[in-house]
Amino acid sequence: MKNSLLLDAGGGGRASQRLIAERFFRHFANPLLERMDDAALLADLRPPLAMSTDAYTVTPLFFPGGSIGTLAVHGTVNDVAMLGARPRYLSCAFVLEEGLDMELLDRVAADMGKAAREAGVLLVTGDTKVVPRGACDKMFITTTGLGSVFAEPTPSGHNARPGDAVLLSGSVGDHGLTILGARENLSFLSDVASDSAPLNRMTAAVIERAGDVHVLRDPTRGGLASTLNEIAEQSGVSIILDEERIPVHEAVKSGCSFLGLDPLYLANEGKCVCILPEERAEAALAAMRNFPCGAEAARIGRVTAAEKRPRVALNTRIGGSRFLSMPEGAPLPRIC
Ligand code: MG
Repeated sequence: MKNSLLLDAGGGGRASQRLIAERFFRHFANPLLERMDDAALLADLRPPLAMSTDAYTVTPLFFPGGSIGTLAVHGTVNDVAMLGARPRYLSCAFVLEEGLDMELLDRVAADMGKAAREAGVLLVTGDTKVVPRGACDKMFITTTGLGSVFAEPTPSGHNARPGDAVLLSGSVGDHGLTILGARENLSFLSDVASDSAPLNRMTAAVIERAGDVHVLRDPTRGGLASTLNEIAEQSGVSIILDEERIPVHEAVKSGCSFLGLDPLYLANEGKCVCILPEERAEAALAAMRNFPCGAEAARIGRVTAAEKRPRVALNTRIGGSRFLSMPEGAPLPRIC
């Protein structure tokens, strides 16, 4: 018989202790977590600190290239890294539905532990609640990440300047299309996989090698087009992209054209945009390409002064030009 989660396990008693010890500690093991105090004591973080939090509700829980567990680590680690910080610690809160298959919970916890080790972060504190059947869909996870900022100046969406180069660490659209394919069982998308990956080692190398990084941002929900629109608005500049330079995998291109989707608006979970002075672009690209997650890094455009208002324009493959607007809402819910 399948071992499934009982409501008791969220009650704070023995059943809770067993759940935490058996399902989480063995995957997250570290001395800070094992102290089991009310909070984790972090004695070695030097300010300024970067902190970020995210709730993960992806469905399905497992998909080609990752799971809710990899996303819960990578998504938060990457957001902290985008501030020019070294992510060090994570907290995690689980909301679990009564009746959840324990084997599934174990696989998610194993993915989180592995992702944390790969990213070099420790899961040091957490919480688990169990809610009655129907009060949530299997499992929601919230993680918070903390790290010390070492980049000087600190990268920010407000810092893009006319003349800067716009770099992208790799292909776009993979994650969003994978979730759509997994949810709808679209067999023609079998060659597509999520790019879920930690970016912190790569961004640290870019900052160390190129320096003076003006903007780092990961184009997650809303995709590359939304992220660049945000940056253009925050910095009061325009961004001009060359369509033929934006890496898109063949399987993503053909899947998108079949479904009428634009890969520039699909979510990514292992890519970043890097904007910096033109003369530093080659050094930054070389640093990215040293990492598997940056192997396809490319220079995709440049920053210009805004004319009437900040805009993102795309020079198309056939020689035309069009504006990429900010989407109104999410085309696909629960992708991360
Ligand atoms: Mg982000």
